[in-house]
Amino acid sequence: MQGETTPVAPVSLLGPAAVSAWIGLGANLGDRQAALRTALSAMGALPGICVQRVSSLYGSAPVEAGGPDYLNAVVQLCTTLAPHALLAQLQAIEQAGGRERPYRNAPRTIDLDILLFGDQVICTPTLIVPHPRLHERAFALRPLAELAPELVPAQQLAAVAAQRIDRVQGAGWAL
Ligand code: AMP
Repeated sequence: MQGETTPVAPVSLLGPAAVSAWIGLGANLGDRQAALRTALSAMGALPGICVQRVSSLYGSAPVEAGGPDYLNAVVQLCTTLAPHALLAQLQAIEQAGGRERPYRNAPRTIDLDILLFGDQVICTPTLIVPHPRLHERAFALRPLAELAPELVPAQQLAAVAAQRIDRVQGAGWAL
């Protein structure tokens, strides 16, 4: 019918079984932008992962923690990896980036979280999706809403409006 649009599936070189996953990136130690860029290229180099879109960079105040401000972004991946396999790969990238966990919410060289994995709901001891704190964190919701506003209800953004977060650079940071 005229005027109607057909939803277009994300273009993926990985085939029809690939799923869209949304990854939150954060860093607040060292050269934060270099750490995000390194993590992004490491993700893109993995078999079974295609980087599809990258948000702008955002600066944010630490939530429930002290330390320097964070740089944050969200990346949309296409992947044929299973959710736990993707988590393992992200944790390996964190390790390679010098991630240490001396205490909860400690400052970090690189943090990678699975925010959403297609429309899957996962609740296991090691992986919870949607990410259990996604809805309460402006530093994840704002860049996610930039890429996919349909995934972030307006009331969720309104609920985190008091958290300090500033868009600092367009998506060209990732080039
Ligand atoms: P963090 O300190 O934020 O890096 O948290 C890492 C821990 O959270 C790991 O033990 C993961 O197994 C667990 N975790 C649970 N759900 C997720 C998720 N959606 N993304 C990343 N880590 C998760």
